[in-house]
Amino acid sequence: MVLAANDAYLSDYKVANKRIYSVKVVILGDGGVGKTCLMYRLKHQKFLEDSRMTIGVEFHTIQVERDDRQFNFQVWDLGGQDQFFFMHKAYLKGASGIIYAFDLTRTKTLYGLTKWFNLAKDLGPLPSVLAATKLDLADFHAIPQEAIQEKVGKLGFDKYFKISSKTGENIQSMWGDFADKIIESTSNGC
Ligand code: GDP
Ligand code: MG
Repeated sequence: MVLAANDAYLSDYKVANKRIYSVKVVILGDGGVGKTCLMYRLKHQKFLEDSRMTIGVEFHTIQVERDDRQFNFQVWDLGGQDQFFFMHKAYLKGASGIIYAFDLTRTKTLYGLTKWFNLAKDLGPLPSVLAATKLDLADFHAIPQEAIQEKVGKLGFDKYFKISSKTGENIQSMWGDFADKIIESTSNGC
């Protein structure tokens, strides 16, 4: 077992001289912002055409190789709809990082981030990334740039990533930024 800087326990074993780490992360954001499509794009490099509402929680494993280490990120993708909100606190337990997402076509989802931040507060500061989804739907973007900047600053992010799971734009740069932060934060314990 390895004790990470953020107190999360990572399982640590070796396969063919590779150290393998399992890391739990969660993706949070209002229902319909595109969380499940984002995870599908990361895992399969294509757009999930018939996304259905996530009931409860889904899991996606995404591997990242670094030198002689392999990180298996287990992403917990929680149903964002209000009826699942009560479950979330328990599901956040043991997370080493958080992907926050809002939808560029729906202003409400930007302000909805406050609720997700408050929910995750008890975990303390964790490596996080902020994704603004549906970049491809330019004609429907509803949120003024200033409103986004203000909210992003208030939440303490120095940047955010505009992404499209449909086209794949910026998905890898967002994920790379996030994975780097987590790997860095766990490296002290490796
Ligand atoms: P979740 O509830 O946050 O998991 O949202 P889903 O991933 O299920 O996506 C909700 C809806 O948004 C679905 O109809 C998706 O097809 C659509 N969607 C998700 N990502 C994108 C995107 O990048 N571009 C477009 N045009 N639609 C998207
Ligand atoms: Mg979903």
